[in-house]
Amino acid sequence: MNELLAALVRTAGADHVLTAPEDMAPFLTDWRGRYHGAALAVVKPSTTAQVAEVVSACAQAGVPIVPQGGNTGLCGGATPLADGRAVVLGLSRLDRIRALDADNDTLCVDAGCTLAAVQQAAAAAGRLFPLALASEGSCLIGGNLSTNAGGVQVLRYGNARELVLGLEVVLPDGRVWNGLRGLRKDNTGYDLKQLFIGAEGTLGVITAAVLKLFPAIRSRATAWVAVPDPRAAVRLLGLLRGDCGERVSAFEIVGRSALELVLKHIPSARNPFSQPARWAVLVELSDAAADIGLETMLQDVLSLAAEQGLVEDAVIAASLAQAQALWTLRESISEAQRIEGLSIKHDIAVPVSRIPEFLERAGAALRAVWPGVRIVAFGHIGDGNLHFNLSRPAAEDNAVFIERTPEANRIVHDLVATLGGSISAEHGLGQLKRDEILRYKSVVELDMMRAIKQAFDPRGLMNPGKLLDTERPGAGTD
Ligand code: FAD
Repeated sequence: MNELLAALVRTAGADHVLTAPEDMAPFLTDWRGRYHGAALAVVKPSTTAQVAEVVSACAQAGVPIVPQGGNTGLCGGATPLADGRAVVLGLSRLDRIRALDADNDTLCVDAGCTLAAVQQAAAAAGRLFPLALASEGSCLIGGNLSTNAGGVQVLRYGNARELVLGLEVVLPDGRVWNGLRGLRKDNTGYDLKQLFIGAEGTLGVITAAVLKLFPAIRSRATAWVAVPDPRAAVRLLGLLRGDCGERVSAFEIVGRSALELVLKHIPSARNPFSQPARWAVLVELSDAAADIGLETMLQDVLSLAAEQGLVEDAVIAASLAQAQALWTLRESISEAQRIEGLSIKHDIAVPVSRIPEFLERAGAALRAVWPGVRIVAFGHIGDGNLHFNLSRPAAEDNAVFIERTPEANRIVHDLVATLGGSISAEHGLGQLKRDEILRYKSVVELDMMRAIKQAFDPRGLMNPGKLLDTERPGAGTD
């Protein structure tokens, strides 16, 4: 191992190869503090060539690699296993904005740029890069692509997967694939880049990407709307899309318990109504054209919806500061829930039309077996994605709560499957759902996934123990 460490130091420099426990500690625990791993070293190269050298050196030594971006993932994908065999590959020093092609509406960036830096580079060029998450100040674009991140504007612009035209990837044997094409049309065989997007670092290391840019937004209208129930929310979405079309750029639902946690733990949060609504939606309309009366458009739809009993109360932001205050309510939920303590997270997707049924049936089934469980439901209802989280009942201790996780997962995930949904809408599988997914994917689907893994990484050195259980070939459903 000393030989490998010496090679890593030659490549990245001694300052960027960490081996002391206190230096490595931040890289060995996930954002939620749920997974704790161990590693031989953390290495932080600064160029693609250095990444390739690190990967080759590890491949020669038979040492696994765990790519890590901003370490904000919620499934333990970036945390090494506890066996301490792996090297963590920190990507934050690959942070150059490589090239802007304004006429082609593309931006080529290193994988270690923060999402916020990518958004700022697009804005400086009078364009929009629309991926937007509450963690955007710390997550890295390579991590966003590796998890196929979603966020609050998927409704209009799609997931990370839909925002990429080209990739550069270091393969598990250390070779570099330069697929940094800026083409919107390219039918020359398999779309290889899509294999790496959402692969959670199990097939290779993304080192750079060509991203799609969109027109900058010049008008925006934001509202916080109290609705009687999720069914009304879905109907309101239909009205908005009918009247405002693609201008509906965000449509987020927030259940009362989620809002209450934010009001309890986030000092800057202010409820726009005198009482937290049972259900609220954060609606945003936006357009590239300036001064087109979006507030009036939004007001008209909300009035119509109120006449139909779909809206109980609403406030439309009168300034950017007010709009940001409304967004704080939505974007602070994960943080507030973390401060509150342990939670069981379900990041699920079902068809938008079935969200109300999911909430009713999942809530009833859980409460029947687990009186007092606190359901904290919120999320991207506009694209059928809910964060259906459970917080510990006040009277229950942590150990009992953790013990009940498998039972709760079974209830929620089985219902999701019945409704034609997904048990991981946008966070990935990581360690958290690696085994759980075996219950919901067919043997055929798992066989195809394993064949891809085998083709790219036959020695299983890329992020082992994440996403896919390569040890259980027979698992899966018929
Ligand atoms: P990491 O956590 O470092 O890594 C995630 C996975 O990708 C790991 O498996 C890792 O091995 C792999 N990986 C990282 N970089 C590379 C690379 N360059 N090449 C290959 N593999 C790599 N997610 C959403 O989708 N939508 C949300 O709305 C959302 N909101 C969030 C809000 C908060 C407050 C927090 C803390 C997280 C949120 N997330 C959300 C989850 C998380 O921010 C995203 O998954 C993000 O995309 C992860 O990026 P990262 O750089 O932190 O990746």
